[in-house]
Amino acid sequence: MTEEMLHVPEELKDVVDRANRIAIITHVAPDGDAIGSTLGLMYVLRGLGKSAFPVCQDPVPYQVNWLPGVEEFRPSPPADVDLVVSIDLSSLDRMGDAYDAGALGHVPLVNIDHHVTNTHFAPIRWVEPKAVAACEQVYHLARAFDYPITPTAATCILTGLLTDTRGLRTSNVNARVLRVATHLVELGAPIGEITELAFNRKPLSVIKLWALALQHLHIEPEGIIWATITEAIRKEAGHEEENDGGLVSFITSAEGMYVGVVFTEKPDGQVNVSMRARPGVDVSQVAFALGGGGHPQAAGATIEGPLEAAQARVIALLKEMLAQHESVRAQETVSVGGSE
Ligand code: AMP
Ligand code: MN
Ligand code: MN
Repeated sequence: MTEEMLHVPEELKDVVDRANRIAIITHVAPDGDAIGSTLGLMYVLRGLGKSAFPVCQDPVPYQVNWLPGVEEFRPSPPADVDLVVSIDLSSLDRMGDAYDAGALGHVPLVNIDHHVTNTHFAPIRWVEPKAVAACEQVYHLARAFDYPITPTAATCILTGLLTDTRGLRTSNVNARVLRVATHLVELGAPIGEITELAFNRKPLSVIKLWALALQHLHIEPEGIIWATITEAIRKEAGHEEENDGGLVSFITSAEGMYVGVVFTEKPDGQVNVSMRARPGVDVSQVAFALGGGGHPQAAGATIEGPLEAAQARVIALLKEMLAQHESVRAQETVSVGGSE
């Protein structure tokens, strides 16, 4: 039996009750869950008569640029907010320039997050690694405190739930998650339309980016597969966004691989490291050791270049992690099927 609900700290209700002008800040280089949870919470709070402002340092990505409310995103909060909610992020620096400690230090800071690597930076927090998305937390929060979920809010919340689970395809999806998804559909979220928009279309630049990056694929005998997006590749493909359009998940699906990595060169010379692991392998601690964070199956970090040095460092750490993971092969058996 899967537990029905996640436990939501009562303290969050008191904090919301006291606030009137609430900034919701999500992480730099946002993904579908970052945008969906920010907007979902925004609509829930507005339903309570609060003013709520969605904030992100970086632009909304193509995958979710059709969501209601995306045009309201701003790079920093208004000066007179009385509450800051940080969402889908595990450390203060993930807010980037959107959080100015000098200007906001006196305002209560809440963190709602589901990363196992959370640093517990916020005085008031709900960190729940069991949640498959920050959006799932927004759903449980609204349900726990009887906050209404409008069809618009449900649409944003279901979108992040779907994107962080790659369309309900990750190994953490269970009966509870499906019940949440079902209820969001009942509340008015158009699941077919969301799936179509979030998963069945990509900018042509992403396809070109993949074509170029896949020409130089590296496969380590330990079961690590990796690719690189150089600045030159990104320019040639005409891809302006910082993300890889899902390339890292794609290469990690290769038979026999345990870990997939995409290294992306940033204009400032730093290197973005995006990692995925097959169930049974955990890349979150490697990401954390690199100064980043994430989940067991999906984690990342931004590290110093140059590219070759960064690659050597990360691949060495991953090999070390896999060497300590002798049980990996034993876990390959699948518990699907009956006992007839
Ligand atoms: P990505 O590979 O960018 O899709 O990210 C996978 C997961 O790791 C997401 O949950 C991110 O929030 C997290 N993550 C990625 N980069 C970082 C970073 N630099 N610091 C902390 N967490 C990160
Ligand atoms: Mn995210
Ligand atoms: Mn998330």
